Amino acid sequence: MRIRNQRLDCLIGSNMKYIDIHSHLNFDIYQGDLDFVLEDMKDAEVGSIVVGVSAKTSKRAVEIAEENDSIYAVVGIHPVYVDEEVNFDREFYQSLVDRKKVIGVGEIGLDFFRLPEDGVGEYKENQIRVFREQVEFARDNNLPIMIHCREAYRETLDILREYEDLSVDFHFFAGDREILEEILSLGYYVSFTGVITFTKDYDELIENTPDDRIMSETDCPYVTPVPHRGERNEPKFVTEVVKRIGEIKGKNMSSQLLQNAKDFWRI
Ligand SMILES: [Zn+2]
Repeated sequence: MRIRNQRLDCLIGSNMKYIDIHSHLNFDIYQGDLDFVLEDMKDAEVGSIVVGVSAKTSKRAVEIAEENDSIYAVVGIHPVYVDEEVNFDREFYQSLVDRKKVIGVGEIGLDFFRLPEDGVGEYKENQIRVFREQVEFARDNNLPIMIHCREAYRETLDILREYEDLSVDFHFFAGDREILEEILSLGYYVSFTGVITFTKDYDELIENTPDDRIMSETDCPYVTPVPHRGERNEPKFVTEVVKRIGEIKGKNMSSQLLQNAKDFWRI
């Protein structure tokens, strides 16, 4: 791990004031004007972690990270994409995590929100198998994990509990207080998106998350925060998420949120 940190030292874009730890700049929706999006981020002093959901998007995330300061990548198979990428190609993903701008494995996890009409058992089993393989892959590479979880918090936590000393962030956290307490007791982190700017549903969760265990993200192009609703979401709008977390906490949280991301992702 020490070697990894040393390698990264020279790469850190030092003019980051904010970080969006979960963006999909690797998606096609940005390919027409990615340079402008990145330029705006630079002006706003916003860095980001670009998140893979499949082999193709993971590879693209690494390319974007390698071409830009203050941009990093995490790679992996999103549970919903297991349908198309039913086997975790360890050798391929190893070739990605060996690149120095790749700082974690994700987004991985379980998503039982939309189940197929037939073959539910097999659908879930495949997700669980690929998730477990990727957790072990992250552990073996000593990398933090970005969790995607929907309608499956219990199942996800039961799997994670089988392993010791994992670094885990629950991206787009939308569980209840009990699940939050369990996540925190395991030493894990949670991160929140722009949804917190247009619903009060998350206020209590944020109030009850210690300042040093929370991170900011956009999950762009999804869930654009207020006051930009209706526009395509971009990492620069993470400032609205940071602002809202600060309002809920009753203090400015921007440097704390940046520090949390640096600590967690070792950047
Ligand atoms: Zn995502």
